[in-house]
Amino acid sequence: MADMGGSISKILFTEEQIKNRIKEIGMQITEDYKGENLTVIGILKGAFIFAADLVRQIKLPVTVDFIAVSSYGSATQSSGEVKIIKDLDISVKDKNLLLVEDIVDTGLTLKYLLENLKSRGPAGIKTCVLLDKPQARKVEVPINYKGFTIDNVFVVGYGLDYDQKFRNLPYIACLKKEVVGKSRE
Ligand code: 5GP
Repeated sequence: MADMGGSISKILFTEEQIKNRIKEIGMQITEDYKGENLTVIGILKGAFIFAADLVRQIKLPVTVDFIAVSSYGSATQSSGEVKIIKDLDISVKDKNLLLVEDIVDTGLTLKYLLENLKSRGPAGIKTCVLLDKPQARKVEVPINYKGFTIDNVFVVGYGLDYDQKFRNLPYIACLKKEVVGKSRE
């Protein structure tokens, strides 16, 4: 069963809603980068599904790469520490970068990566975020393209995990309290 035995309390965004929104964002990006080079950088692991679906809605030649960071101390609480655990394979000097992130919570991950990538001399950097949790923000970060805004709740699915599970759910959902509580004991 896709939701792994009834762990989901509420679906926030269905597969259809996500698909439609990504189509719109893809059209906007296609319009904005017409005639320019574009390098899409997905932030692993959470953005792997979003980045895969998004690039197929960008009707331009794109270069794709991934960077992996670890930013979470426990399963649901940010430690504030960001570490690159897999760097880019390509040089981004003089390239137009689009940094693709699953969710912006405190903003610390995106801020760290923006500063790190800026130091490599790209032509420009924009950000594309599927979910924005503005109530949890600790540092301000620019979001150029956004899927949805959500309340300060913990979500899983569509690439987002809890304890490395639920990434394969095709929708975005909240977990039942007892699921989060049980595995944190
Ligand atoms: P930030 O650095 O903005 O606090 O957090 C960004 C990262 O924290 C995201 O890439 C994601 O991995 C994780 N994160 C933040 N909020 C959530 C959430 O509600 N659910 C899940 N699964 N991960 C989250």
